[in-house]
Amino acid sequence: MTADLSPTDRSTVRRGRERAQTDRQALYDVLSEALVCHLSVVVDGLPFVIPTGFGHDEGTLYVHGSTGSQSLRGGEGLPVCVAVTLVDGIVYARSVFHHSMNYRAAVIHGVARPLEGDEKTHGLKVITEHLAPGSWEHCRPPTRKELAQTAVLALDLHEASVKLRRGGPKDEDDDLTYPSWAGVLPVRQVFGDPEPCDLLADEVSVPSHVRARPPGS
Ligand SMILES: Cc1cc2nc3c(=O)[nH]c(=O)nc-3n(C[C@H](O)[C@H](O)[C@H](O)COP(=O)(O)OP(=O)(O)OC[C@H]3O[C@@H](n4cnc5c(N)ncnc54)[C@H](O)[C@@H]3O)c2cc1C
Repeated sequence: MTADLSPTDRSTVRRGRERAQTDRQALYDVLSEALVCHLSVVVDGLPFVIPTGFGHDEGTLYVHGSTGSQSLRGGEGLPVCVAVTLVDGIVYARSVFHHSMNYRAAVIHGVARPLEGDEKTHGLKVITEHLAPGSWEHCRPPTRKELAQTAVLALDLHEASVKLRRGGPKDEDDDLTYPSWAGVLPVRQVFGDPEPCDLLADEVSVPSHVRARPPGS
């Protein structure tokens, strides 16, 4: 895997190309901070987009779900496209036309590969540790029956693009004196206080890997 993103024809950002990132680390940064991706597949000739959790390690993105999920079945060995989006702000311009959003986003193109055996368990661990770091060691491991009910797909991160927008509104010069507010309203992903399950025994306290989770981790 090269240090730079090496765009193919379909992963080359054309519109707003000055916002395209070339460093592969920018891709890992987006993936590390996001909790949800949108997986698109074509099933029986029709497009489907499914929001779902994911995980990644160097070079591979993992998604999982029920073996009965038609989007995951459709994704097996078939071309897929995954989008990952972080919204950083709403951009208020003096004109409605120039309102915008600040964001960091990644799009990954490729062929999803169903995993089995140790690879499948590894994919599940990566997903679990991405969404709930510390839970793989803390909780009961999956049983054979649970593993059989779960499909895990791996997508190579080779063919990917990253695009971001930062900064304030880009108003027309003629609009700069228009008396409306202009600027950015930041958007942040934060974790609230843990809410224990009603059925939790009194003596089970909130573990440090749940309590000490910083924003965007
Ligand atoms: C939160 C958010 C809100 C947005 N709102 C709007 C909006 O309201 N209107 C609008 O026109 N655009 C919006 N965009 C930008 C949008 O995602 C596209 O980049 C843009 O519309 C250009 O589309 P295109 O098909 O011409 O892209 P092209 O540049 O032709 O796309 C070619 C390839 O570039 C890559 N690519 C394109 N866009 C992105 C991206 N955002 N992130 C990573 N890779 C990308 C993909 O690999 C794609 O296959 C928004 C983006 C985000 C993340």
